[in-house]
Amino acid sequence: MNIIRTVSDMKSYRLSLREKGVSVGLVPTMGALHDGHLSLIRHIRSLCDIVITSIFVNPIQFGRNEDLGKYPRPFDEDCQKAGLAGCNVVFSPEPADMYPKDFSTYIEVEKITAGLCGASRPGHFRGVATVVLKFFNIISPDMAIFGQKDAQQVAVIRRMVEDLDCPVKIITAPIVREKDGLALSSRNSYLTPDERSEVPAVFAGLGKASSLFMKGEKNASRLKAAVLDSYSNARTFTVEYVEIVDIKTLEPLSGECNSAMIAVAVRTSDSKTRLIDNIVLGGDF
Ligand code: AMP
Repeated sequence: MNIIRTVSDMKSYRLSLREKGVSVGLVPTMGALHDGHLSLIRHIRSLCDIVITSIFVNPIQFGRNEDLGKYPRPFDEDCQKAGLAGCNVVFSPEPADMYPKDFSTYIEVEKITAGLCGASRPGHFRGVATVVLKFFNIISPDMAIFGQKDAQQVAVIRRMVEDLDCPVKIITAPIVREKDGLALSSRNSYLTPDERSEVPAVFAGLGKASSLFMKGEKNASRLKAAVLDSYSNARTFTVEYVEIVDIKTLEPLSGECNSAMIAVAVRTSDSKTRLIDNIVLGGDF
């Protein structure tokens, strides 16, 4: 497996592939790779000739009080894991290479970024859309894969690709979980033991709504209330939001629904870890 550390080397490498006529798949990540990331690499591996994984802790998607400084960066281990999962190239540029001194162009995807995580993380999706478009321009992938775990991110990227006519196919993959239901996340390493023992309740709450839905409960407000109710006695986390939304547009739903996504964000009390999760009811993501 090759490691490419600069934007200009990545562009040259991509040009060299053009002559060979191979298809290229991109897996954008911030590193600290876990089985969720590796499932994306394996999935796209089966669809294209060359898999490129970007490992870049993107400074412009972090808010001022967020965890940019402490975000885990086990680079050597990541490269090893990516290679074993079938990645051909890790692309890991320096922030100053991606955002030189005079950098001043940003991608703002409107509307779909207003709610859910966008409401409490101003500028986050602007940073995400900007870095992803830069990767698309540097790497020219034929396809790129994103996890359902970050459902709003997927919706933002899909919107951007459609609006700006990006010649990239967007693929998604399901959420990979621990045995106890906790969605894998690079941020799970911040959790205290006490928090770690309680946070599987986040997914259990979503599961409660899912079983109500399967038994015939289609009322959006009651489904949302069931999830909130299941969190009411949590000791180690507080709810930032529980929303029931349209699977594609992420518009809030009320009244009867035949399909929906329930999206959740919580923050733990001691380590202040922000965790997100979601579940799709009666439809495909
Ligand atoms: P990140 O490194 O957190 O920016 O995530 C990189 C990609 O991995 C994104 O497309 C995420 O949605 C995806 N991802 C993160 N956690 C999981 C998970 N538990 N299961 C599947 N995909 C995930």
